[in-house]
Amino acid sequence: MMVEDAICSFCGCLCDDINVEVEENNVKRVRHACRLGSSKIMGHERIRSPMVRKDGELKEVSYQQAYERAAEILLAASKPLLYGWASTVCEAQKKGILLAEEVGGVLDSTATVCHGPSVIGIEEKGLPGATLGQVKNRADTIVFWGCNPAEAHPRHSLRYSSNACGRFTPEGRSAKRIIVVDVRETRTSKNADKQVIIQPGTDYEVISALRMLVAGKGDVVPDEVGGVAKKELASLAQMLLAAKFGAVFFGLGITHSRGRYKNIDNALSLVADLNSHTKFVIMPMRGHYNVGGIGQVLAWSSGYPMSVDFTRQAPYFNPGETAACDLLAKADTDAALIIAADPASNFPRKIVEELAKMPIIQIDPYENPTTLLADVVIPSAIAGVEAEGTAYRMDGLALRMRKLVNSSYPSDEEILDGILECVRSLRSAMRMQGGA
Ligand code: SF4
Repeated sequence: MMVEDAICSFCGCLCDDINVEVEENNVKRVRHACRLGSSKIMGHERIRSPMVRKDGELKEVSYQQAYERAAEILLAASKPLLYGWASTVCEAQKKGILLAEEVGGVLDSTATVCHGPSVIGIEEKGLPGATLGQVKNRADTIVFWGCNPAEAHPRHSLRYSSNACGRFTPEGRSAKRIIVVDVRETRTSKNADKQVIIQPGTDYEVISALRMLVAGKGDVVPDEVGGVAKKELASLAQMLLAAKFGAVFFGLGITHSRGRYKNIDNALSLVADLNSHTKFVIMPMRGHYNVGGIGQVLAWSSGYPMSVDFTRQAPYFNPGETAACDLLAKADTDAALIIAADPASNFPRKIVEELAKMPIIQIDPYENPTTLLADVVIPSAIAGVEAEGTAYRMDGLALRMRKLVNSSYPSDEEILDGILECVRSLRSAMRMQGGA
């Protein structure tokens, strides 16, 4: 059987033109996806069964036993952290928020260590955005700032940006001007018309200089900014002003360099300035396929897009205090539920050492370094391959992902439901005991 126009659930591009050949309920071949997407859809070695740590070793148990142990851990904790959520569907994220409210925990997503500064910058300034379809059909000037889609989002250029042929851009790459700003040469910059290499940590200064040049106040710009000659910056400003429709895509190179959310704030102001002269839009290059989704679901449920503390009877948000790494650094959390993420690989070492001190529940289809620290391991169906659900593309467009094959593993949503049910019955049993 051929499943046509399936959605790839790997990166924020959410390519929706994937053909998947299924034979006897197994994926045999994947067409149109890049190597990253193909390897996700084809799958690899899985966690076979739920496990609970006993006497220092993970022992196989039933799903029900794993749910019960997870509920015990969450209820015994005074401030559990529920972290991850970027590689699962919105339906599971919604259940996670219910669970966080029920146990009085803090829910944070992987955005906190990637595009968190973008989220804060956008909250302050607003986003002059567009859909990827608009960029494909209209953009004649594209800027990649601090991102390398050729490696991280391999089909972005062909489907939506530099090499895409759109309704008003039928000539494709030959009629577009591609600009890459980064601290080094990248695979993306090999396809650029103009490459600007800046000194690390000088994004804010370079953006400020461009804003002055765009505003016609070049006389206040020094001869060199961020290692780039004024002449070079002036020619870049001219290219931006000459655009009929420009799009800026930015990545972690700018969100995690010196200045952080202020860099994004300044980049948004540059785009606002450019809109006094021509049409320009800007968009973060979101990494995990549904990291945009957890921001949306949290925002419509609690009013905040990440790092939400549910311990105070009302949602509370203060990045720097309620983000996962902040809580762990201050030892202000005493248990963790990790879903669809691998903090043991991605957090700073000192933070991982803190994480290792507390009981951890892991929900994931695959074993990863976090599994070595976990006390309860619950294997799940792969969202977007073995379970259906909704995800938000990097431009904020919601897409419905179909199930491609059947699986004996429960979905993330079913697992969270199971834990939620155990939390409720354990709590009512504790109340009854207290009453007696
Ligand atoms: S670019 Fe991203 S969404 Fe598209 S096929 Fe590759 S990994 Fe999947």
